[in-house]
Amino acid sequence: MSAIVAIVGRPNVGKSTFFNRLIKRREAIVDAVSGVTRDRHYGKTDWNGVEFSVIDTGGYLAGGDDTFQKEIDKQVNLAIDEADAIIFMVNVEDGLTGMDESVAALLRKSKKPVFVVVNKVDSNNRRDDAHEFYALGFEHLFSISSINGSGTGDLLDELVKSLPEKEQKEEENLPRFAVVGRPNAGKSSFINALIGEDRYIVTDIAGTTRDAIDTRYNRFGFEFNLVDTAGIRRKSKVKEDLEFYSVMRSIRAIEHSDVCILMLDATRGFESQDANIFWLAQRNRKGIVILVNKWDLVEKENNTAKAYEAAIRKEIEPFTDVPIIFVSALNKQRIYKAIETAVEVYNNRTKRIPTRQLNEVMLPIIENYPPPAIKGKYVKIKFCTQLPTPMPQFAFFANLPQYVKDPYRRFIENKLRENFDFKGVPIDVYFRQK
Ligand code: GDP
Ligand code: GDP
Repeated sequence: MSAIVAIVGRPNVGKSTFFNRLIKRREAIVDAVSGVTRDRHYGKTDWNGVEFSVIDTGGYLAGGDDTFQKEIDKQVNLAIDEADAIIFMVNVEDGLTGMDESVAALLRKSKKPVFVVVNKVDSNNRRDDAHEFYALGFEHLFSISSINGSGTGDLLDELVKSLPEKEQKEEENLPRFAVVGRPNAGKSSFINALIGEDRYIVTDIAGTTRDAIDTRYNRFGFEFNLVDTAGIRRKSKVKEDLEFYSVMRSIRAIEHSDVCILMLDATRGFESQDANIFWLAQRNRKGIVILVNKWDLVEKENNTAKAYEAAIRKEIEPFTDVPIIFVSALNKQRIYKAIETAVEVYNNRTKRIPTRQLNEVMLPIIENYPPPAIKGKYVKIKFCTQLPTPMPQFAFFANLPQYVKDPYRRFIENKLRENFDFKGVPIDVYFRQK
C-alpha cells in the first residue's frame, strides 16, 4: 500500500490544478485501459520511484468561494488523521489571509509532515512575495506554479523523502477484508454481527502502518483478517454524510485489503459516494463484494431483488462481474453467505491459471475471432501467460501489439471471465511484443 498525501487549503489557491498535474500522466493511461472516468479528487502518482496516493480535499467541497471556514477546518482535521503528509497550499497573489492562518493553527497541532506550498509563483518577481508565508511557522516552504510546473520537482523530492517506507508484506497468507461504505450503511452492525463475541478474535496484530489494524478472526470455518482503520474502529465523531469522509476513511482500508466488502444502504440505493468507493477499490485492483444491507426494510415484490441487482450492475459497468448479496446486518441474514463469497473472491484474486491450460483455452478463441486488421496489417497473437503479480494480470504476445485496440482487449477479458472464474476481481490484459 502506498502513502497518502492530502492537499488542503482554502478555495481557489490552485489545489485541483496541482492535483491534476500530479495525476495526469498516469491516470491518462489507466483511463485508456479501463474506460472508466477517474475520480477527480483522488489518484495515484509517483516520484523518484515512490508511489503515493493524492487526495484533493477541497475537491470534495460542494461550494466554491462561499465555502465556510468550518467545513475547511473539518477537512483539515480529517486530513491530519488520515494522511501521511500534508500539502498546505496558499496563494501568493492573495498573500497571507486569515483563513490560511486558521488552517495553519490546526496543522501545527499535527505531528504529520506539513509542506507549505506557495502557489501561482509563475515568475521570478513573485518569488520574493512568497517569503511572507514563513510567518505561518512551518519548516518546509516551497514556491511553485501549478500552471507551468516550476518548483514542483523540488517540492516532490522533499515530499517523498518524508513518506513512510513501504510496509513489509505480512508473512501470513490470510485474506484481508475491509468493510467499506458510506456512514450509516451498517458497517459496524455488520462487523458486530459477523464477529459475534470477542472470544472469536484470535489475535490482535498491530497493523504494519500506524492507523490500520488487522484483527484475525476465525468464523464459520473461515480464517481471515478484518482490516480495521482508525476511522472504522473509533466510531466517527463526525456523522455528516459527506462524500469526503467516506472516501477519506476508505482509502487506507482499501489499500490495505485484498477484498473490499462494499456495504450499501438498500433504502438509499447506489449513490455517487458508493460509486466513488467502488471505483477506488477497482482502481486499486482489489477484490469487491457488494452487500446490499438493510434488506429487511425494503418492501418486496416478485422481482425486487433482481431489479435492484440490475440497477447496481448498470452503475458499475463495465466491471459488472461482481457478486451482489442482499443482507440484513440487523437480522444477521446472509452474513455467512457474505463471508463465504468474500473468501471466494479472495481465491479468485490469487488464482493462477497454468500457462498450458490458458493457451489451450484462449488460442482457439483468438483464432476464431482474431483482432481486426488495421491498415492492412494482421495481428497475430501467438502465446499468453498469467503474470506473477498479486492480482490477475495476463500478457498476450503478438507481432503487432500496438494495433490491438480496446474493444478487443475487453473481448479477451470477457472470454477469460467466461472460462475461468474471476468474479469480483479486476483483471488486466496486456498485449506485448513477441
Ligand atoms: P482550488 O479551488 O484550490 O482547487 O483551485 P483551482 O485549482 O481550481 O484554481 C483556481 C484558479 O487558479 C484557476 O483559475 C486556476 O487556473 C488558477 N491557478 C491555479 N494554479 C495556478 C498557477 O500556478 N498560476 C496561476 N497564475 N494561476 C493558477
Ligand atoms: P455504519 O456507520 O456504517 O457503521 O452504520 P451502523 O452499523 O452504525 O448502522 C447505522 C444504523 O443503521 C444503525 O441505526 C443500525 O441499527 C441500522 N442498521 C444497520 N444494519 C441494519 C439492517 O440490516 N437493517 C436495519 N433495519 N437497520 C440496520
